[in-house]
Amino acid sequence: MPDSPNNVFESALENLDHAFEYADIHSEAVTRLKHPKLVIEVSIPIRLDSGDMKIFTGYRVRHDDTRGPGKGGIRYHPDVTLDEVKALAFWMTCKTAVMNLPYGGAKGGIIVNPKELSPLELERLSRGFIQRIADFIGPETDVPAPDVYTNAMIMGWMMDEYSKIKRQFTPAVITGKPIPIGGSEGRADATGRGAYYCLKQHEKQRGWKPENVTVAIQGFGNAGQAVARLLDADGYNIVAVSDSSGGIFRKEGFHVPSLIKVKNKQKELEAVYCNDGLCEKVEAKRISNEELLALDVDILIPAALEDVITEDNAGDVKAETLIEVANGPVTSAADAILRKNKVFVIPDILANAGGVTVSYFEWVQNKAGYYWTEKEVHDRLEERMSTEYWAVHELTEKHDIDMRTAAYAHALSRIGKALTAQGTKDYFHRKRAE
Ligand code: NAD
Repeated sequence: MPDSPNNVFESALENLDHAFEYADIHSEAVTRLKHPKLVIEVSIPIRLDSGDMKIFTGYRVRHDDTRGPGKGGIRYHPDVTLDEVKALAFWMTCKTAVMNLPYGGAKGGIIVNPKELSPLELERLSRGFIQRIADFIGPETDVPAPDVYTNAMIMGWMMDEYSKIKRQFTPAVITGKPIPIGGSEGRADATGRGAYYCLKQHEKQRGWKPENVTVAIQGFGNAGQAVARLLDADGYNIVAVSDSSGGIFRKEGFHVPSLIKVKNKQKELEAVYCNDGLCEKVEAKRISNEELLALDVDILIPAALEDVITEDNAGDVKAETLIEVANGPVTSAADAILRKNKVFVIPDILANAGGVTVSYFEWVQNKAGYYWTEKEVHDRLEERMSTEYWAVHELTEKHDIDMRTAAYAHALSRIGKALTAQGTKDYFHRKRAE
């Protein structure tokens, strides 16, 4: 499969060059980060329910493991490319470093439309992928997790397959598992919750009172619902939400638990208010996803797809703060426009790092064989998100730079120190001269 023509990996690496001058990192270390450590392509033949055989292509990329085992999800999507998997693995290296997790970065993917497979075919494919990559993953080498169109059940099958191959129960090989087989409390809503903890720190910076703050959220799935629920419970006004079919707007704000209840039951977004199990429609305006992004709100939360804010619509964004719960929702051209228009962007590698942070907690619990309560998970997540939020913020003030550049600089400094600990040209050159 050829790399995609727009070369996502090359453009992901541009962030390295932007942040380099503000980071404590040797140029040699940056050069190393431009080359993933391990790239694997596998073919997975599976027997379909019809009796036919079909071959699927899968990838696993370990971008870097200087600070610890590779860490990153496995994506099932028809548009997966090797180039995209490399870019996602690079982002994971940066994300784990921003959060100071003892990991590098990795990612995997299979070119497949999982909606076209039966549950049994999906299980065979997931187990087949692990049979191919088992020699390259492991609790101390590379630890996968769920990503787009993979879920806890798939992680459970994968862990089971790996355990069979190794002939020992190995829950720490993969995170995002169902709780009865080694999953962690608090993993399900960790991404949205992490973003919420970031916003609580940002609230202090802005001096906001929740009841005066309006919020629009694009994408009402796992992450979007969690952040909406937590903000709503705090008194924020969620005035607009959307899904792939479009959005709804209500100036007075929505009752978020009602929206979630109906969306998850009927698979449709409806403006409703539910009380005692009875739901009734409330007045709201139907809006498009484009209109949602241009609403005059205080906080805009893209929580659906990448590349939704481009140079064509970035100028329309009126929100004071934009928090990237989705991965890569703002293109680099749009980012420059948002900066010029003084929109405060909390970047994805910080904002949506709650998921990988609780994955780390799951791995720690699996290795220790000792499990934490939901409250312990929440408290530890809050502590991590707040600490790293302010560390990134401090860099923005020190160098007069935006949060994205600062987050990359923060990550690069940590990775740089780890790479430098093994010696760079300066060290070896000096030793010879002495
Ligand atoms: P999800 O599948 O649960 O939800 C996605 C939502 O986006 C759905 O409501 C869907 O209807 C909506 N959507 C799809 N296409 C849309 C469109 N064209 N316009 C508007 N809405 C659209 O996914 P999720 O797990 O909530 O992930 C959302 C984003 O967050 C993704 O970018 C993902 O990479 C990122 N993310 C998720 C996690 C996690 O742990 N779930 C971790 C890190 C990053």
